[in-house]
Amino acid sequence: MSEKTPITVAYGDGIGPEIMDASLRIIKAAGANIDIETIEIGESVYLRGETSGIEASAWDSLRKTRVFYKAPITTPQGGGYKSLNVTVRKTLGLYANIRPCVSYSPFVRTKHPIMDTVIVRENEEDLYAGIEHRQTDDVYQCLKLISRPGSEKIIRYAFEYAVRNNRKKVTCFTKDNIMKLTDGLFHKIFDEIAAEYPQIENEHWIVDIGAAKLADTPEAFDVIVMPNLYGDILSDVAAQIAGSVGLAGSANIGENFAMFEAIHGSAPRRAGQNMANPSGLLLGGVLMMVHIGQPEVAERIHNAWLKTMEDGIHTYDIYKEGVSTQKVGTSEFADAVIARLGQNPSTLKTVVYNKDAKAVKAMGASPRKVAKKETLGVDVFVHYAGTTDELAAKLQAVPSGNLKLSMISNRGLKVWPNGNPETFCTDHWRCRYMGSDSNAISHNDIVSILDACSKAGIDFIKTENLCTFDGEYGFSMGQGQ
Ligand code: NAD
Repeated sequence: MSEKTPITVAYGDGIGPEIMDASLRIIKAAGANIDIETIEIGESVYLRGETSGIEASAWDSLRKTRVFYKAPITTPQGGGYKSLNVTVRKTLGLYANIRPCVSYSPFVRTKHPIMDTVIVRENEEDLYAGIEHRQTDDVYQCLKLISRPGSEKIIRYAFEYAVRNNRKKVTCFTKDNIMKLTDGLFHKIFDEIAAEYPQIENEHWIVDIGAAKLADTPEAFDVIVMPNLYGDILSDVAAQIAGSVGLAGSANIGENFAMFEAIHGSAPRRAGQNMANPSGLLLGGVLMMVHIGQPEVAERIHNAWLKTMEDGIHTYDIYKEGVSTQKVGTSEFADAVIARLGQNPSTLKTVVYNKDAKAVKAMGASPRKVAKKETLGVDVFVHYAGTTDELAAKLQAVPSGNLKLSMISNRGLKVWPNGNPETFCTDHWRCRYMGSDSNAISHNDIVSILDACSKAGIDFIKTENLCTFDGEYGFSMGQGQ
């Protein structure tokens, strides 16, 4: 027998220990060739004063095994406790979140009986970089960061996932009709990478109508790849409309590490009663078995689980008179799955994992292409509580050297020159300076204009350089400009 694959296991809080115990019993009975190291995370660690919920010794185990099978944990209320999930995801660089959303009709009630969609969510960037500032009395800002390597990695992951899991189509959702640079980059990279996979159908939807279509006709989608925020929201929508939030598992994959879990929380009210459904965590474990190169074990577990569902052996959360045959506890459910190892479902589709291809291992991005960058101007953001015309007059009185004030906008809409008197303005203004002779400008020009503004008592908050990259504009125009 080949060497055992070491994995790190955390039993978590609330229902965690019971569902982890049940899941591991099934996984071991299915013949998994694994070597388990257990770590403690969550409530007890938080309450010992470790605000991240995880201790140094636990990181040592994760660094060694690189595979983390994690039960849900309870985050104590208040007290500055940081989300353990975010800490683990960011520290281990788990950039891809994979969530299969499948309906199990007629055994689990759903309005969408033929749904089988996989959401691939970018996990590290977008508005989740958490870079926020209050800039004026009126205005707060959160930076949305989309990078080329980050987008390449997640989109390539989605296509590789599709190839290795016999999927036919990858769909991309963005809002690039509005966010032409950030979401525009994600869409552009999607088109570039899609061209490398001619055997996989590809399509792009604007996220609003795409989300509406997903909620209405999920059977039209196969794999969907999205930036972080849309993915966060729509992966929950997808799991919910499949009828089975409690049944979904997920994988978080990085270049060197991977974490597998249920999508639900620790359900503290159900803890210690042998009631909870272990299916979400078990299906997370199935994704893990594929990841560590034991697809035949994944298949045995998954098909036995489908057969158990089909036989109507259900925990309280999905038990329905007339559909279910037996209401069971966590432990008895695990026994029922173990008893069916080796069997396939007869109504639901039997799952087959690709045994030739290895699981999708995370891939790096292509080497950085350094473009010729020219700075054409600078946006100076200003905190000012008066009217547009007053601000324009004040700024025009400021000596601006090689720069020329070309536009003022408020919440993105051009208000000077030739604004509309009806426009509501906050106290947060973008004042756009361009090189006065349309030539490139220098850092010194920017320092000079800030110095002049400072001497004139203009309260600037921040600047953004206006650059071209190989001649392509790297900034948006003002709306109405
Ligand atoms: P929850 O998912 O724990 O519970 C929501 C509802 O679903 C409850 O009614 C619960 O009884 C039920 N439920 C959840 N899992 C179930 C299962 N396996 N079987 C049967 N019923 C199940 O969400 P919550 O109540 O908002 O959060 C409880 C705690 O979990 C909080 O401390 C929260 O921070 C934490 N949480 C942790 C994770 C994680 O570790 N990944 C994720 C979400 C929430």
